[in-house]
Amino acid sequence: MEFAAARNRMVESQLVSRGINDARVLEAMRNVARHRFVEEALVNQAYSDHPLPIGEKQTISQPYMVALMTEALELKGREKVLEIGTGSGYQTAILAELAEKIYSIERIRSLSVKARRILDQLGYLNVVLKVGDGTSGWKDEAPFEGIIVTAGSPDVPQPLVDQLPVGGRLVIPVGDRYTQSLLRIAREETGLKKTDLGGCRFVNLLGKHGWKEDS
Ligand code: SAM
Repeated sequence: MEFAAARNRMVESQLVSRGINDARVLEAMRNVARHRFVEEALVNQAYSDHPLPIGEKQTISQPYMVALMTEALELKGREKVLEIGTGSGYQTAILAELAEKIYSIERIRSLSVKARRILDQLGYLNVVLKVGDGTSGWKDEAPFEGIIVTAGSPDVPQPLVDQLPVGGRLVIPVGDRYTQSLLRIAREETGLKKTDLGGCRFVNLLGKHGWKEDS
């Protein structure tokens, strides 16, 4: 009850007040128990307006960033969605509330294992997780109407663009190692339409089509 009240406050004061208005996204943010995806010691900060550490030098994103990226995917319920960077699994759970099937790739095995356990406990049956480099996408399951990258990339990885059908949307932070622009790339009949949704700051997307691990 206390957590549900904290979630309602989070939705009003952090999301609605900043312009998130997709009713389905707001409902998902009210429903998903974010506190289950953070470390025990940080549970009382689970609904605060900032990212939190999840171990392995990675983070669970700020609630507003999760909502903004999710809203940009414009999910209606029947989509197949690819997520790169499972992390804690929180964003995955939000997507699982809003689309038909979610495929999510994480390069750090321990995070993927932990996310799987929590997603199972919460009953998200429409989520498939894989450990590996997500910058090449998931060719065997492509195309995806929605692709979301939750780590910052130097460029837009071409394999992800190739796995978008006409009408598909890709949301990805692109920039240097410290600050990025959140880009929405939509594949239209006539080509790709790119929209800049504003500045952001993510951990690095490491991999073949992202940052090289030793650079
Ligand atoms: N969406 C997550 C959540 O809700 O907790 C937050 C993700 S965190 C900001 C970014 C994640 O991307 C990290 O867990 C990191 O290990 C992962 N990552 C970085 N490069 C990757 C790659 N090439 N493939 C898959 N995952 C990657």
